[in-house]
Amino acid sequence: MSSHVADEVICRTCTVCGTALEIAVTTDGSLEGGGHYFGPLFAHITDATESDAAAEYWECDECFAR
Ligand SMILES: [Zn+2]
Repeated sequence: MSSHVADEVICRTCTVCGTALEIAVTTDGSLEGGGHYFGPLFAHITDATESDAAAEYWECDECFAR
């Protein structure tokens, strides 16, 4: 058994300030770090289209902390 299940990095952009985000996700779709997501859970991490990604709302660590 592996204790590390993360295995994908998705690229998104902070909706507030435009910072590029690299978000680590696990194979079951959980966020492991790199950004803060608000909204409906994405069920299509690997095959999200650009318009899907644009509809998502992400914040970087800095904006989230504000
Ligand atoms: Zn930001």
